[in-house]
Amino acid sequence: MQFYSDGYRPGDPDVRPPAPGRENGQGPLPEEVDVLVVGTGPAGVVLAAQLAEFSGITTRVVERREGPLAKGQADGVACRTVEMFEAFGLADKLVREAYWVNETTFWGPAAAGTGIERTGRVQDVADGLSEYPHVIVNQARMQAYLLEHMRNSPARLEPDYGLEATGVVVGDEGEYPVTVTLRRTEGPDAGEEVTVRAKYVVGCDGARSAVRKSLGIQLHGDARNHAWGVMDVLAVTDFPDIRLKSAIQSATGGSILIIPREGGYLVRFYVDLGDVDPADRGARDRFTPEAIIDAARKILDPYTLEVQDIVWWSVYEVGQRLADRFDDVLPAERGSRSPRVFIAGDACHTHSAKAGQGMNVSMQDGFNLGWKLGAVLEGRSPASLLDTYTAERQVIAQQLIDFDLLWSSAMAAKPKDPANPDAGGMDAAERQAVFTQGGRFTAGFATEYAENMITGSAAHQHLAKGFPVGERFHSAPVVRLADAKPVELGHQAQADGRWRLYAFADAAGPSDAESAMAAFLRFLESDPASPVLRYTPEGADPDAVFDIRGVYQQGHRFFSVADLPAFLLPRKGPFGLTDYEKVFAPDPKAPDIFDERGIDRAAGALVVVRPDQYVAHVLGLNSHAELAEFFEGIMLPARP
Ligand code: FAD
Repeated sequence: MQFYSDGYRPGDPDVRPPAPGRENGQGPLPEEVDVLVVGTGPAGVVLAAQLAEFSGITTRVVERREGPLAKGQADGVACRTVEMFEAFGLADKLVREAYWVNETTFWGPAAAGTGIERTGRVQDVADGLSEYPHVIVNQARMQAYLLEHMRNSPARLEPDYGLEATGVVVGDEGEYPVTVTLRRTEGPDAGEEVTVRAKYVVGCDGARSAVRKSLGIQLHGDARNHAWGVMDVLAVTDFPDIRLKSAIQSATGGSILIIPREGGYLVRFYVDLGDVDPADRGARDRFTPEAIIDAARKILDPYTLEVQDIVWWSVYEVGQRLADRFDDVLPAERGSRSPRVFIAGDACHTHSAKAGQGMNVSMQDGFNLGWKLGAVLEGRSPASLLDTYTAERQVIAQQLIDFDLLWSSAMAAKPKDPANPDAGGMDAAERQAVFTQGGRFTAGFATEYAENMITGSAAHQHLAKGFPVGERFHSAPVVRLADAKPVELGHQAQADGRWRLYAFADAAGPSDAESAMAAFLRFLESDPASPVLRYTPEGADPDAVFDIRGVYQQGHRFFSVADLPAFLLPRKGPFGLTDYEKVFAPDPKAPDIFDERGIDRAAGALVVVRPDQYVAHVLGLNSHAELAEFFEGIMLPARP
């Protein structure tokens, strides 16, 4: 974390100075905004937290509720989401408060005849997948962290509560072509209509999205017909794995998923309530908390369950559905104009809660879109960048739905009849295998963006095999040269909309002017084709658009900042202070990053990383022209 470059300020450095004009907060809702975000669920708050970093643009967030969510809904936080929280500076807080899902157990009908017994126990996240654990925290807390981040950002962004979007119309002309009708849901003016014009609108307004309906976007998929009771409780039980995530299948076919929760006492039960008649619209409302507890007791038998306090409960019954597009551009128009309205999260994909993906994938939708809107609105990228949102996220949503179908079927399957094993069903070992095979997906690491304008080809992948193009940048431990601090390389990247260029040096030392690394840095510093020169505005800090990090092969005690090219010691801010935090060496107390991530030691490698932490390209240190060409498609020149 770096601060004070523009002068010392007492107080909490997480509360950053307000942008000009935001000293007294964001003010009343204006009639015209750059981006209007509808909804403050996981998708909306991540998007808004990212947009809050761009204080030059006007973002507003409307929410029909009277205030922030207090309890309930999702709670599973995949490792990938914790990595993203790190970029917002929120991971430490999150992992401190959360329950850590280290192991998962599987229970099935007891071989002896009655009751249930443990049939398996597995490590929840495979070794080496992430430096962060899989954790559990209430969705309300996840949102609260991000809302605080927004409030403390230079934009001082806060939701406007009590405003419901009722209609969105995209016009042809003008600077603010999208008109949104809002209705006040509370206060003396409840029912009053307000109109806001926006350059862009994002519907993060959940499964019944009004924005989606306004755009005429259809959801396709299976109808809802299977109900699950979900209940957060404080309870007394003699079930021994109550503090472990446990998937339990009873002899009668009922099943429970137990999710221990943050704080050491709270626990969530997902209880299978069976099929409901799709024609019976009121079926869901007839379930009671007592019926859910009763079903749970039967499945847990012979273990006891005494519920002392029901904190939150709901009957959750969602089919697997996917929107046919994630923005307002019709198939026939695609390529002729760029989108103005988007939908994200449950507004475009719904699925069961069993794989714990709803909140995670929704947040990743918001993270994917936020930096792109910032780049386009700040004039750094063409509007065509926004076409990549639907192209990238629709594929991920389809994969989510396919996986969810597999996992929720496994969870709901009846046990196999030993006398008739071909008659269907699934035994506990088979269910455990589905869980283990899906580990990469549930941890959030199955995303592989295909080649497009922001994701290059894999032609140079052999130079850095451990950083697959299209996948998230997989962090590894290093030592920061200037102060010998062991750090994670991936944690140096904040959610600030900047591109990262990680230059892994060839074998020559840092002071060797003939090395490929030295030549690459000279290209970035002074060649007219250098992306840094072309796209960084005059007068801005040298790393304002591209954050360049150097990783050398030599141990940190064998060289010093005096050996570094000046380009890796940029002078910044009003005082022209030196940024000493750009250069790293392998951590002698951890596996060497060059070996761990398969970097070619002779040639070195350049790993280009998008603002949302995905690897955009792997190139050689001498691929100067290829690097310049790659960014030509993504960026608009900042200098004549
Ligand atoms: P949401 O979280 O639904 O957020 C949408 C937001 O938009 C809400 O704050 C809503 O008030 C607001 N909004 C809606 N319409 C408008 C409008 N027209 N104008 C302004 N604001 C609007 N997932 C699990 O993993 N486990 C669970 O047990 C679980 N239970 C759930 C129970 C319920 C009742 C719901 C609704 C969802 C549950 N989910 C659960 C799903 C999970 O919460 C979602 O996948 C996730 O929240 C999706 O995030 P989102 O931001 O897309 O939408």
